[in-house]
Amino acid sequence: MGILEGKRGLILGLANDKSIAWGIAQACHREGAELGFNFLGEQLERRVRPLAKKVNSRFIEALDVSDDAQLDAFFDKVKEQWGELDFMVHSIAFANKDALRNPFSTTSREDFRLALDISAYSFIACAQRAAPMMKAGGSMVTMTYLGAERVIPGYNVMGVAKAALEASTRYLAQDLGKQGIRVNALSAGPIRTLAASAVGDFRKLMEKSARGSMLGRNVSQNEVGNTTAYLLSDLASGVSGEVHYVDAGFHVGSGDPGIE
Ligand code: NAP
Repeated sequence: MGILEGKRGLILGLANDKSIAWGIAQACHREGAELGFNFLGEQLERRVRPLAKKVNSRFIEALDVSDDAQLDAFFDKVKEQWGELDFMVHSIAFANKDALRNPFSTTSREDFRLALDISAYSFIACAQRAAPMMKAGGSMVTMTYLGAERVIPGYNVMGVAKAALEASTRYLAQDLGKQGIRVNALSAGPIRTLAASAVGDFRKLMEKSARGSMLGRNVSQNEVGNTTAYLLSDLASGVSGEVHYVDAGFHVGSGDPGIE
């Protein structure tokens, strides 16, 4: 019997089979969960539907998390179809490419607003709509990165957004804990995905991360998926408000991946 047997959950942020959300979906499906997905726009719908089918999902609906009306409509449909919810994964981030390529000190108000809105506030917006459906308690997990607490060249405004996301995780954990809902963040090492391609010199970042990690390599989307499945499951029933690293131990290293 899988660790998520009998549980129903949403995985938000599946774009393609390279997405971290796909690693999470496969792990949760293997562990027995029934899954629901969102997609952003028609182009992505064509990619998300076949993937969702592979994990026997029957809930696939449009959702742009920057739009309150779409958020309301999406979660109304979840309520209509499922009534109750056991878990939610938030695997969504966005920043304008220019804001990641130009010096951080030149970040515009609009680029800051956009990155923080989609990459951090949207977790709160989804959590406040999902929580009332978690009548028997539940678990929420969001995806973050080390750039929240250290300066990672090229990560720029996304680092500030991830810092807000991690702080939001702790405040949500405090509020929703009263309803038996656990809220955690998973800090993944670099993985080649669509979103990652926006980060300047990502190849170099991956090389440095592998060299500076305890295991001497990078992590896979499956490893992130397996740890997320654990955090969503009752095996992690005592874990909340945590930032859990899945980065092959890089964050406990010297901080200078150039040193051999
Ligand atoms: P990804 O496959 O590109 O996933 C990012 C997802 O966010 C996409 O599905 C994207 O849709 C979606 N998104 C962006 N704006 C949205 C909006 N307004 N409404 C709804 N969805 C929206 O890349 P990923 O690397 O798996 O990213 C997933 C999460 O992991 C992100 O939070 C990312 O910061 C985090 N993370 C990634 C890494 C890494 O190295 N890859 C490391 C640590 C943490 P579109 O494609 O249509 O924009």
